[in-house]
Amino acid sequence: MVHVVVLGAGLGGTIMAYGLRDALRAPHQVSVVTKGSSYAFVPSNPWVAVGWRSQEAVTVNLEPVLRKRDIGLHPQGAKRLHPAEKRIELLDGSSVSYDYLVIATGPELAFDEIEGLGPEQFTQSICHVDHALRAKPAFDALVKNPGPVVIGAVQGASCFGPAYEFAFILEKALRGARVRDRVPMTFVTSEPYIGHLGLDGVGDTKGLLESEMREHHIKWICNARVDKVEAGQMSVSEIAEDGTVARSHTLPFAYSMMLPAFRGVEAVRGIEGLANPRGFILADKHQRNAAFPEIFSVGVCVAIPPLGKTPVPVGVPKTGFMIESMVTATARNIARLAEGKAPDAEATWNAFCLADFGDSGVAFVAQPQIPPRNVNWSSSGKWVHLAKVAFEKYFLHKMRSGQSEPFYEHLALQALGIDKLKAPKIETPAK
Ligand code: FAD
Repeated sequence: MVHVVVLGAGLGGTIMAYGLRDALRAPHQVSVVTKGSSYAFVPSNPWVAVGWRSQEAVTVNLEPVLRKRDIGLHPQGAKRLHPAEKRIELLDGSSVSYDYLVIATGPELAFDEIEGLGPEQFTQSICHVDHALRAKPAFDALVKNPGPVVIGAVQGASCFGPAYEFAFILEKALRGARVRDRVPMTFVTSEPYIGHLGLDGVGDTKGLLESEMREHHIKWICNARVDKVEAGQMSVSEIAEDGTVARSHTLPFAYSMMLPAFRGVEAVRGIEGLANPRGFILADKHQRNAAFPEIFSVGVCVAIPPLGKTPVPVGVPKTGFMIESMVTATARNIARLAEGKAPDAEATWNAFCLADFGDSGVAFVAQPQIPPRNVNWSSSGKWVHLAKVAFEKYFLHKMRSGQSEPFYEHLALQALGIDKLKAPKIETPAK
């Protein structure tokens, strides 16, 4: 009998627990250690921030689902992982021991790396549902007293899609409120060009997103380093190829939302051999850590090196499709270890993204994620918005019913016919 613990019940951790339960029947045990007992669908946060979704609509109470699926729940949260003892110390002082551990703790949001950044200071955030809820009154205040808006992603950020999404969703919401004509909008990004997305672009994301920005009257600043934020004002340096400051900007704002850089969470940061200097978990091609081979990791917490040198540092995004493939591979590998066999499954590191613009959107598929690619496809239109709404419904249904079937692979790509365009058959390990 083995006991597998999943640390973190976000997008990756929750489907990881469901997948492990499918792969490892009783008497094997599966448990989840997380903070609280609810799951909130992070991709819906931009909609929550402008009041298009309530918290209830995007949140799942995991307690009854996990009970039904015979998965243990420790909602106290982890204080510290002690890998040499195969033990997690919880925030209430108790401990959970494991035979195998899957770390799925997502990102810690590094607002503190820039003076004045974040929801405790002067900019809004959509990274967490609580932040998105707090951003709604700020949106209402903007509608009441229109003024300039600054949206974007700071130096070291890796999650650019949601920054673009939020700029266009906010733009649509302001048009709906009939105040867009009094709101100058600027997109500030550490990317070297619009549509880079931490991936050196996918298909024509540069052309598509620049064109959308022009059409929606959103100005932009690339290669941007945010130096500091004060009440109603952001200081930004535009960095040249040689690293010098090409131009300085002082941007006044009535409302700002900036995506921060990410790092690994405190409970796992600074553990020699487990995490890199920023606290991301080191994993081999089987999602397994070399120093602690009973530890696997999935999702945003996994260490992935940046694509290449850019004037301002940018990270590589980790999105749902990639996370799902890490989960599928990890479930199979742990099940094989429990049977005394060696891990053999590898995640397919592809990117599939739907960036919603409120009434249209941009979609892209990158296979593999790092160029040169076999599939390098992007498209835009109203269908992206409709597809994103359908995905939200499907994903929340899957979370509420405890299903682990690969979602992006089987439903998204095949229903949209994207894999039939020119993609080779996507390999997933057999169950
Ligand atoms: P998370 O979902 O963040 O889950 C981490 C979990 O670990 C959380 O439940 C957290 O409470 C828990 N945790 C952290 N520390 C501890 C601790 N010490 N003890 C116990 N539990 C802990 N990707 C897409 O493919 N499509 C999208 O449309 C999309 N939209 C996004 C929108 C936004 C605003 C953001 C920020 C990201 C988006 N992403 C999207 C990227 C990615 O899919 C999500 O960030 C996704 O939620 C990452 O999943 P995860 O499991 O790695 O981390």
